[in-house]
Amino acid sequence: MRTAEIKRRFLAHFESNGHTLVPSAPLPALGDPNLLFINAGMVQFAPYFTGQVTPPFTRAASVQKCFRTPDIDEVGKTTRHGTFFQMNGNFSFGDYFKEGAISLAWELVTRPQSEGGYGFDEARLWASVYVEDDEAFSLWRDRIGIPESRIIKLGMGPNFWSMGIPGPCGPCSEILIDRGPEYGPDYDISSGEEPDGDRYLEFWNLVFMQYERGPGTGKTDFPILGELPAKNIDTGMGLERVSALLQGVDNLYEIDEVLPILDRAAELTGKRYGTAGSHLATESSPDDVRLRLIADHVRSGLMLIGDGVTPSNEGRGYVLRRVLRRAIRAIRLLGYEKPAFPHLFPVARDCMTPSYPELAAEYDRITSYAYAEEETFLATLRQGTVILDMAIDETKRSGVATLSGDKAFALHDTYGFPIDLTLEIAAEQGLSVDQEGFRRLMAEQRQRAKADAVARKTGHADLSAYREVLDRRGVSEFTGYSELTRESQVRALLSESGSLSGVAEGEEVEVVLDVTPFYAEGGGQQPDTGKITVGGGELEVFDVQQPLPGLIIHRAKVVRGEVRLGETGLAEIDVRRRAAISRSHTATHLVHQTMRNFLGESATQAGSLNAPGRLRFDFNTPSAVPPSVLADVEHQINEVLLGDLEVHAFVTSLEEARKLGAIALFGEKYGDEVRVVEVGDYARELCGGTHVTRSGQLGLVKLLSESSIGSGVRRVEALVGMDAFGFLATEHLLVSRLAELFRVPADQVADRVEHTVAQLREAQKELAQLRAQLVVGGAARLAAEARDVAGVRYVATEAPEGTGGNDVRTLAQEIRGRLEQGRPGVAAVAVRAGGKLSLVVAVNRSARDDGLSAKDLVKAALSGRGGGSDDVAQGGGLPADQVLKVLSTVENLVAKVATAGHRE
Ligand code: ATP
Ligand code: MG
Repeated sequence: MRTAEIKRRFLAHFESNGHTLVPSAPLPALGDPNLLFINAGMVQFAPYFTGQVTPPFTRAASVQKCFRTPDIDEVGKTTRHGTFFQMNGNFSFGDYFKEGAISLAWELVTRPQSEGGYGFDEARLWASVYVEDDEAFSLWRDRIGIPESRIIKLGMGPNFWSMGIPGPCGPCSEILIDRGPEYGPDYDISSGEEPDGDRYLEFWNLVFMQYERGPGTGKTDFPILGELPAKNIDTGMGLERVSALLQGVDNLYEIDEVLPILDRAAELTGKRYGTAGSHLATESSPDDVRLRLIADHVRSGLMLIGDGVTPSNEGRGYVLRRVLRRAIRAIRLLGYEKPAFPHLFPVARDCMTPSYPELAAEYDRITSYAYAEEETFLATLRQGTVILDMAIDETKRSGVATLSGDKAFALHDTYGFPIDLTLEIAAEQGLSVDQEGFRRLMAEQRQRAKADAVARKTGHADLSAYREVLDRRGVSEFTGYSELTRESQVRALLSESGSLSGVAEGEEVEVVLDVTPFYAEGGGQQPDTGKITVGGGELEVFDVQQPLPGLIIHRAKVVRGEVRLGETGLAEIDVRRRAAISRSHTATHLVHQTMRNFLGESATQAGSLNAPGRLRFDFNTPSAVPPSVLADVEHQINEVLLGDLEVHAFVTSLEEARKLGAIALFGEKYGDEVRVVEVGDYARELCGGTHVTRSGQLGLVKLLSESSIGSGVRRVEALVGMDAFGFLATEHLLVSRLAELFRVPADQVADRVEHTVAQLREAQKELAQLRAQLVVGGAARLAAEARDVAGVRYVATEAPEGTGGNDVRTLAQEIRGRLEQGRPGVAAVAVRAGGKLSLVVAVNRSARDDGLSAKDLVKAALSGRGGGSDDVAQGGGLPADQVLKVLSTVENLVAKVATAGHRE
């Protein structure tokens, strides 16, 4: 039975039993700051379970796309874990409970396939229950008829569920299937242990939300406060596990949605899957494990990018990057060194589009990220592997078995070489890695970044003081879309030590007003500044933040008098600054829309900064934007300005906004009501920022630069209004001045500069030749003055201070070449430069035959600081005033070696 059919039957079964079918939420867990990805079907229903929101239905069913970051490392170690997988679930919100959940599941699992069920053989099915859940135990035994010998009682660890925080919790009950002795040992039910997961495969978990729990840590350490008034059901059936069972294949990676990718990878790398080792995860051949990993990770990559995740160095983007990179490395380990994704992604797409048709439309965007990631990572691998190999060599040579945390961190920090890869490669070489040291360095780095960010955004890192103000005083109303000044009342005064009732002149404070025209930094828009005059005092506002939704904090200094809680007065923003920021914000919308016009819909915003007179716009696109396109973008934007379009903001429903084609940002969370900003009919975007009223007010937009800020993300910077004008005017002056200096008309300056640079290069070349001739000329004279040192023709000289390294070397070689043939000869040339000396020694053939080596001479004279060959060697680094001493050391050594040679 194909996976798509298993999914269809699941939904049909629950729909016919009164469940509302709910589509899968996207993989990124946007609503939960503690979760990167949705990892279970219940996540999108969590607000219903916790009682924060009243559910619109009492029964629901879904097939949820899931991604479990911790299971990345399971792929290969077991054969029942994927990174991406689909969880089929049915949910009851205060409706049916244990008996309903158990019978509904059992019915679908055991109903014959000819009647729309899965047709599992009842004799092979087992159930597990929480050890104290007698109710579930009896239901399985008496209602369903599973013999006691196949009902496993397990403790809280495996069979008790909670969300890790105070709220609903309760026992679980799982349905397992015995896959037979070829998958592992028989289970001893009296052991109280969990059975082997690959033999007794769990494929459906039923959670009975029965109790309310209190605070505590871990899976077991919390108090149960009592029974929930309305009990809920949450279940999860692993779609891939059921597919593997119903398709009669061995594991998750061999089902219809995955195997074609595996086969293609095997074909590319010339491997034959499943011909060595056994099917058990622990006894599989390494090649098989790698093929499974590739298939799993490629599919996950497709699904993650499909849901808007892009590779980056933190958060979700990092998890994606890790998955893609693991796949790339596995392919390389199988011997295929060229880009493989262009061969694998099309197969993954064909596997997944039957269930997720939207992937077809998104495919170009998806692969542009995946392929770019593969290209960059292959380059990183080429570079990093060399450096890692050196580090490993060095570590081994020093007789240590652990690669230092510093080295691992440097590889990560400087070369983007991921730690898990360092671990893997080091392990292959029999080394461990000081992970603790690495983590400490990473944590230190992260801590620095975080402390900076927090200190910049809000006075204090701890939000509890803010929450209290919000709870007690309610939200602050923002009126700044239409007003620049506002009568308002001081609701709270906060300092680092807590709430204040008054502040005196000279002090800094955080002020909360009931109503305010001040815009808090957000959506890339810089905060307003301005002043607040209350009672007998005046505050200068230098920053405005919104640490919690609805709470606007004015960070200000009392510049005159005193300010007291409860007083009313006037809040006034700096109008010029606001106008300049608003121009930048409108300009950002125009840049965004115009980029999309030229580069396609996928050029979406990834970040922005709207500051007075200038903006920064980051967007997703796989490669550099050519200068000609940038010029066209700039041209089109300025045409829109001349069109003097009306800029208009309005509030509407999210659905209506989508219908109007408003651009919504990926990863942004929107409520049902959204604010839309449109610039005529040209650009329409969801936005909470402030804008001009007509595009003509922008005056001028000048794009300054375009650069990469990470793989797949580019940045443009631009100036707006008078700042753009000022920039162009300055450039104009500069060109005029150059034209004057070069005495040509402005439009010929570039040609003239090019010409002058070419002439200069030519002159430098001639100069170098002349210098070389001089050196060589000097060589003949110096060779003629050679002295005899223990039978060796010896020349020692100091070249003029500052003579270049190459010239010194040439001089030494030229002198040597001019010494009498057939007799041992040595030339030593020293030079001073920048307070240090360097030394080159050249030794002729016959001297080498006598045991003299240039390398040994240099190393001995400079205490090891040099290198080269027996023939010519160089070194340096000692203070310049030791030149004579160094040269005499060389001479003494020559004498010593030569004398020893004669004696032999
Ligand atoms: P296991 O102990 O096997 O890791 P689990 O206890 O983590 O499973 P649940 O959190 O109860 O699993 O998830 C419900 C169902 O989702 C499981 O019964 C299983 O069928 C499926 N499932 C869980 N993790 C994975 C995974 N990594 N890949 C595929 N299916 C999974
Ligand atoms: Mg698990």
